[in-house]
Amino acid sequence: MTQRQCSPCKVCCEGWLTAKINGQLIMPGKPCMHMTDQGCGIYEKRPVKPCATFNCGWLLDPVNLAEDMRPDLCGAIVIIDRKWQGASVIRAIPTGEKIPRDTLERLMTISREQAKPLIFCEFIRGKDGFIGIKRIGYGPPSFVRAVETAVEPEDVFKL
Ligand code: SF4
Ligand code: SF4
Repeated sequence: MTQRQCSPCKVCCEGWLTAKINGQLIMPGKPCMHMTDQGCGIYEKRPVKPCATFNCGWLLDPVNLAEDMRPDLCGAIVIIDRKWQGASVIRAIPTGEKIPRDTLERLMTISREQAKPLIFCEFIRGKDGFIGIKRIGYGPPSFVRAVETAVEPEDVFKL
């Protein structure tokens, strides 16, 4: 199978994944200063972490994440290669305020089929832009409660 390519998607550079790039904080509403209409403007010199080593789920798993689940098409960046509190999970981050309902339902189906709980989030909008994040768990009730009550670094520190 041919390896998937990002283009024309570039949503992970738009700030939906909070990160520091060359000292600049990118976050919802604040895209990377190196992003251009064609993609990364410093592609050969992009930071190793997080840029060069980040693989979204759509690139990693063409079997379960169909072509139309490409993040710029489906409205969610899916991450499948991380653990949460020691457990394998699927994580999904919207490319807007919320993940579109049909995308979320497809992710819930994958979560049930793979017996892998899902953590998805919603961004909270204030009058001057996005001001917070809400994480929601999907899976066993104890997992859902744990996600609701967990405190993550970005809840405490201004990254
Ligand atoms: S979200 Fe995924 S497909 Fe889109 S640019 Fe980032 S790594 Fe590539
Ligand atoms: S440096 Fe390039 S790859 Fe990294 S976030 Fe910025 S535009 Fe995207």
